[in-house]
Amino acid sequence: MIIVLFGKPGAGKGTQAPLLAAALGVPTLATGDELRAAIKAGTDLGREAKAFMDRGDLVPDAVILGIIKQALSEPRTANGVLLDGVVRTVPQADGLATVTHDLGKQVDAVLAFDIADDEIVRRLAGRTVCESCQTPYTGRAPNSACDKCGGTLVRRKDDEPEAIRNRLSVYDRQTRPVLDWYAKHGTKVAVIDAVGSVQDVTARALGALAS
Ligand code: AMP
Repeated sequence: MIIVLFGKPGAGKGTQAPLLAAALGVPTLATGDELRAAIKAGTDLGREAKAFMDRGDLVPDAVILGIIKQALSEPRTANGVLLDGVVRTVPQADGLATVTHDLGKQVDAVLAFDIADDEIVRRLAGRTVCESCQTPYTGRAPNSACDKCGGTLVRRKDDEPEAIRNRLSVYDRQTRPVLDWYAKHGTKVAVIDAVGSVQDVTARALGALAS
């Protein structure tokens, strides 16, 4: 089972991913988390990605497809995976289709988290993330401790107002067309109202997958 979590930055994909993954019994792959870990570790991948990420631009498709290809060929994803933050461009949708086809797999559904830009700006302005385990929080001050691992909460550089504006415009230009791509290729696309409590949104997403 391969499920794509789709939506604007700040729509709640990173919050929902572990909850949905636990309910469905599959692991998650968050390309943003993989890239931030690579930056922290100082790898070639991290050095290549950093400038794009700091500006709120997308990292080149070839880099992302390399990460996906690697992850999908690992035993931990043999029974499925929730993709968080990928697919973000039409070439990524094409590339993922080739990778899954070669492995005898397919994307089973796209969960599209729907939310207005005003709400995104409000959420991201108050967001911090754990610098160790990447858990996102809303309304928790930088430098406080992560509930899950005790790591330090920090603000992401790309959650500054200018980068947020750029990320929303990148979403409109490059990412939104991916939904049409999946609809056209016959993949189930479920639009989920992403406003409400975390539990309500999880229940809506699971309900949409079951129907
Ligand atoms: P996220 O944590 O999903 O908000 O991603 C943070 C940043 O990582 C994005 O703004 C991009 O710069 C980069 N990134 C993550 N996933 C992708 C992707 N699928 N395609 C291109 N860039 C990505």
